[in-house]
Amino acid sequence: MTRVAIVGAGIGGLTTAIALRSFGFEAAIYEAAPALAPVGAGIWVPPNAMQVLAALGAREAVAAAGVRIDRVQIRTIEGTVLQELDAAAARERYGEPIISILRTRLVEALAARLPGHLVQPGKRCLGATHDQEGVTLRFDDGSEARADLVVAADGIHSALRNSLFGPTSLRYAGQTCYRGIARMASGELGHTCAETWGTRCRIGYSAVGPDEVYWFAPVSSPAGTRLDPVRVKAQLLDMYAAFPHPVRLMLSETPTDRIIQTDLHDFAPLPRWSTGHIVLLGDAAHAMTPNLGQGGAQAIEDAWVLASELARQDWRGALEAYEAARKPRTSWVAAAARRIGQIAHLENPLAQGLRNALMTRTPASIQRRHVQRLFSAEHLDLPTTAPAT
Ligand SMILES: Cc1cc2nc3c(=O)[nH]c(=O)nc-3n(C[C@H](O)[C@H](O)[C@H](O)COP(=O)(O)OP(=O)(O)OC[C@H]3O[C@@H](n4cnc5c(N)ncnc54)[C@H](O)[C@@H]3O)c2cc1C
Repeated sequence: MTRVAIVGAGIGGLTTAIALRSFGFEAAIYEAAPALAPVGAGIWVPPNAMQVLAALGAREAVAAAGVRIDRVQIRTIEGTVLQELDAAAARERYGEPIISILRTRLVEALAARLPGHLVQPGKRCLGATHDQEGVTLRFDDGSEARADLVVAADGIHSALRNSLFGPTSLRYAGQTCYRGIARMASGELGHTCAETWGTRCRIGYSAVGPDEVYWFAPVSSPAGTRLDPVRVKAQLLDMYAAFPHPVRLMLSETPTDRIIQTDLHDFAPLPRWSTGHIVLLGDAAHAMTPNLGQGGAQAIEDAWVLASELARQDWRGALEAYEAARKPRTSWVAAAARRIGQIAHLENPLAQGLRNALMTRTPASIQRRHVQRLFSAEHLDLPTTAPAT
């Protein structure tokens, strides 16, 4: 197998190209957008993903472009801590931290590991035809590209997935999510990532730089609900009026035209991830709700597994091994993320009270097991790298 084409230069597509290069394969990436400008404000890169990035030589650049998180707290509006993760201890255990980073900086750090000519922007893939030898991709500018293997990393709405397997039914999570970057001194937040739960809305935030705070705010609402784009900030300030400092300050310090909104969706595990010479990766294969901060991390894990299997065996066997390794894990993470989203937005006060009591009393051993399952990269068979300093 010589020519690999990747459709989509998001976190999954870029990491796949880097991983393939580390095993001696050169892959061209076709990206619909005219330039690499990821949608979304910030992102948390957890230790499982950082371990893969360390193996691919991207750890230092990503860590330097973001902020290390030492503590993650879920709190009520009144300030009760429902759950706390000692991320500094997790870093000791897994060798890598959680990094809070602007999406643009993460994508830049990944793209910097690839020769510029490999990424071709302005190429929206419309579909693919496959034959015995490989695949022909068709783009919206009328051009075509030929490849022996195609990795469809074109996100939750994947045109390739829908054209090959039929339309996927997305499941709306019942929540729409507002996101932004507040231009404010982030010193008081330190290295803490906080999430505060209200009744129909919650908000999570952390520093992404000395003068930048990333926040994301899921709100229970019917699918397709849109706030007035001119008044969105004022409306969010109303919704979050009862939330403690610094929530209102963060919302106030975010430029209105930079507040983005995404309805939260996932989909049920797909029966298959590949057909012929085409394989799905990242959100195209297993989009999940963001409640565990793992969607991008799972795309990064996918990239490593796919590339290492391709290096190990013929492409048919590699695609089978990749799907067999990745499907159970991503299905588990997606289900767990969906459950947390539902629990976080309970509206009945009795149910909320019970939830809060259970969360504050969760034995440390159960929490440790859950964290171990998320953050450990033992299943990835990564080469040993020097731990982060
Ligand atoms: C509110 C929110 C918060 C999140 N927070 C986190 C977090 O903290 N941590 C975490 O790990 N994950 C998080 N995620 C999930 C994460 O954003 C996704 O899982 C991740 O971006 C998936 O990467 P991807 O490369 O598979 O897809 P995408 O990031 O969607 O990239 C797909 C790329 O393909 C391109 N493309 C699309 N169609 C075509 C086409 N037809 N032809 C060519 N190119 C195309 C797109 O332009 C894009 O560049 C969050 C998600 C949301 C919605």
